[in-house]
Amino acid sequence: MFSKSVFWGLILFSAVSFGASLKELGQLKSPFVLPELPYAENAFEAVIDSQTMNIHHKKHHQAYVDNTNKALAAASEVKTLDEIFKNASKLDPKIKNNAGGHWNHSFYWTTMSPKESDHTLSKPLIKAIEKDFQSVELFKEQFVQAGVTHFGSGWVWLIVDANKTLKITTTSNQDNPLMDSAAVQGTPILGVDLWEHAYYLKYQNNRAAHLKALWSIINWKQVDKYYKEAKK
Ligand code: MN
Repeated sequence: MFSKSVFWGLILFSAVSFGASLKELGQLKSPFVLPELPYAENAFEAVIDSQTMNIHHKKHHQAYVDNTNKALAAASEVKTLDEIFKNASKLDPKIKNNAGGHWNHSFYWTTMSPKESDHTLSKPLIKAIEKDFQSVELFKEQFVQAGVTHFGSGWVWLIVDANKTLKITTTSNQDNPLMDSAAVQGTPILGVDLWEHAYYLKYQNNRAAHLKALWSIINWKQVDKYYKEAKK
């Protein structure tokens, strides 16, 4: 039997979270709400300190949610994230930037896990990575390199493109590869935040050290689910 508080906790959780499918995430409709983190803020203390996690989630992500809602309300529009990204080039940059921030962070939280059992790549994903990057090690090197050499704030992505090929790409600010304005378009299956707010307290200017440390907490089980979904 659930206690009353657990019951209401579950109701609240289902109201503010999504089931970590790309489809559900894209279909979220304004007004948007901040999703819960799928783990405790101190779950990754050795890789991402809990203060960074707290500020990143409760302040930065919350601000993207609030500012998307404000910009859409000012334009008297109700939109899904998918609709926003398909029309990104035609929309008020405030809507594009903040909705991008909401999608990117909601996605990012799900691609990390404290559970050891989530840290193993599936055989089909290993095979696909080997086909497009020769080896998992070379893929990781190229991904970190792309993140380190990206100038300024942005994101580094592993995407499935229209030809079902895996590609590494970066976007600036809160853009993402789903946007009609993206130079390289595709479906993200992994995305890492390159903004200094994601790592500065622990790593200061050493973006490379942060990116390398992240491999130990990547939720490959979830990335594999996104891969299967993106390949359909
Ligand atoms: Mn961020």
